[in-house]
Amino acid sequence: MADNIERGNRSFLAITILTSLLFLQSAAGAFAADAVESLQNSDPFASITGASPETPDNIPAVPVPPASPAASADDAQFSSGTLRAYFIDVGQGDSEYIELPNGKNVLIDGGPAPASGDPLVAQFLRQHNVTKIDYVLLTHPHSDHYAGLDYVFSHFPVGSFYDTQADNNGSTGIKNLRAKISGMGVSTFYPAEGDTLNWASGEVQVKVFNSCSAPSASGSGGALNNCSIVLRVSYQNTSILYTGDMQSGVEAQLAQKYGSQLQADVLKVGHHGSSDSSSAVFLNAVKPKAAYIEAGLNNSYGHPTQAALSRLQAEGAAIYRTDQSGTQEYIISGAYTGPLSAAPADIAYSWSQY
Ligand SMILES: [Zn+2]
Repeated sequence: MADNIERGNRSFLAITILTSLLFLQSAAGAFAADAVESLQNSDPFASITGASPETPDNIPAVPVPPASPAASADDAQFSSGTLRAYFIDVGQGDSEYIELPNGKNVLIDGGPAPASGDPLVAQFLRQHNVTKIDYVLLTHPHSDHYAGLDYVFSHFPVGSFYDTQADNNGSTGIKNLRAKISGMGVSTFYPAEGDTLNWASGEVQVKVFNSCSAPSASGSGGALNNCSIVLRVSYQNTSILYTGDMQSGVEAQLAQKYGSQLQADVLKVGHHGSSDSSSAVFLNAVKPKAAYIEAGLNNSYGHPTQAALSRLQAEGAAIYRTDQSGTQEYIISGAYTGPLSAAPADIAYSWSQY
């Protein structure tokens, strides 16, 4: 849909007008990206200071809806009041899945793909009985993040696609994937720093801290890593920060610019635990309580590195790793908020049964 992006903090009236503009442009056949870009040009860096929607005091209380009379006690825990975040074991790569409390779902990156056969993300989606994906987001155009998405777009209806405008000079795979998505008629959005994404408006706040939303191209791994879409998903005073493969240079910029606004209870650790991510200055701003690392067992890159692990531990974060423990689940609900693996036995059991 055309109203998936809001630009920074604006008055409700402004958002309404912008949303209408987006809709009109989309209805006229213009690429949604053009509409977004034109908005950015009119207000390139909408202020994110002031009455931040992420300020806990400003987040409206979202009660957990009562279970229907026919529902069991366990069913109540699976009601629409729950947000489930998964850090999927896709080997050496990244893929995260979110079940939003409004019933919609998000896939951030699709992990790598084997030369033949299905990617590991396919197994996860099948196990979770996924039949459609409302929002697919690619953090940056490296194959350990995008290759699995080819399967996703071939096998699932997708509502909207979120991408950077960074091209990977060395990759035909990303060009083919983007052409495929465009050919399917799926709307592509290019979120920019300061944007808010309307994935579950009024309940879940999604704020973009970094992206390469203007056209660029590079063959440099580091440059493309630093184009990663960085976004924070907040629900019921709990936040999860997704960082793609962002490296320490951009981490330092964000820490300087946003400071404590980066705070998040949960961190998807940048670049698989590379030594050039998870810098101390960044972690000190985020202050994660739980840190999730996605990496392949005994991968050739040495991820996660001891340097990154040590900095995470120094910040006091509990570390969860897909290479050692497989797919990880973090739950935000009125009944329980935290990692499934750390949940009380009765809750962990009931959640694992759905
Ligand atoms: Zn990566």
